[in-house]
Amino acid sequence: MSVDRRTLLKMSLAGGVAGALGLKSGVAAAQQTGSDGVKWICLGTKGGPRVGTGRSNPANVLLVDGVPYVVDCGPGVSKRLVEAKVALPSLRYVFITHLHSDHVLEFGNMVYGGWSAGLNHDVEAFGPVGLDALARNYWESIRDDVETRIPDEGKPDPRKLLKVKEITEPGPVLTTDKVKVTAFRTPHPPILEKNYAYRFETPRGVIVYVSDSAYNPELATFAEGADLLIHETLYVPGVDAMVKRVKNAASLKEHLIASHTTTEDLGRLAAAAKVKKLVMTHLVPGDDPSITDEMWMQDASKHYSGPIVVARDLMEIALEG
Ligand SMILES: [Zn+2]
Ligand SMILES: [Zn+2]
Repeated sequence: MSVDRRTLLKMSLAGGVAGALGLKSGVAAAQQTGSDGVKWICLGTKGGPRVGTGRSNPANVLLVDGVPYVVDCGPGVSKRLVEAKVALPSLRYVFITHLHSDHVLEFGNMVYGGWSAGLNHDVEAFGPVGLDALARNYWESIRDDVETRIPDEGKPDPRKLLKVKEITEPGPVLTTDKVKVTAFRTPHPPILEKNYAYRFETPRGVIVYVSDSAYNPELATFAEGADLLIHETLYVPGVDAMVKRVKNAASLKEHLIASHTTTEDLGRLAAAAKVKKLVMTHLVPGDDPSITDEMWMQDASKHYSGPIVVARDLMEIALEG
């Protein structure tokens, strides 16, 4: 593993890889980086909706000169944002890959939390068809509270602040003065249409985020030359151990393999895309401490010779280009 010149890892690990590389902890890095620059923070790095005491569920935030672009909103996203020192009232853009619960369960509550803490500007949320209904149903579920607080506390109507923009076709979805975001459709059986990967072109480099997806060689073109490929992955021996504990073992394994990308296939993809760094996230199984970073990386590194990082919650990756 090496650190190239364009990117510098800042991990919250005490010791471990970060220590070996002489890198700073997440908190120290955040204080040092301030609001300038481009950095990606892995907020939750475990696949699936089950809540536990270890890794949190899928969520990330890209910060571009202090402006947050939240990517997926699994359970725990709000708490992790606060821990990452991203103030909830600063929420501005949200991207949802697909509507599986581990990616959306806290979408509404996160926006609510921002509003509760003083958010008073628009939040634009991008995602597949169905996201608008999810948002409307969320507001309906909390209507009594919201309609009490608006006059009682003199707050703006949060339902009007949240602007959902459903993506119906792949292509550019957002262009700001600093960031261009493009969506790419990728299969995650049985979800074939309503599932997107995102490419973020920033002033400091390109980040491609893929979660969730079956192994899709076509992503190599979408991710070509990216400074960071942040991609879900599945560790097959870990899945074998996991499914031994359940009754529907064979069908569960079949589902997982069909709808996700193994570590070895991810190595193939990263090599084909010639990305500068690979970050493994949405780890399945993400709550088995017997699986070491080396085990996650082993099969990918058979194909991809660049640096590989196994994501941990609150890990920060800054683009220094
Ligand atoms: Zn997922
Ligand atoms: Zn999924």
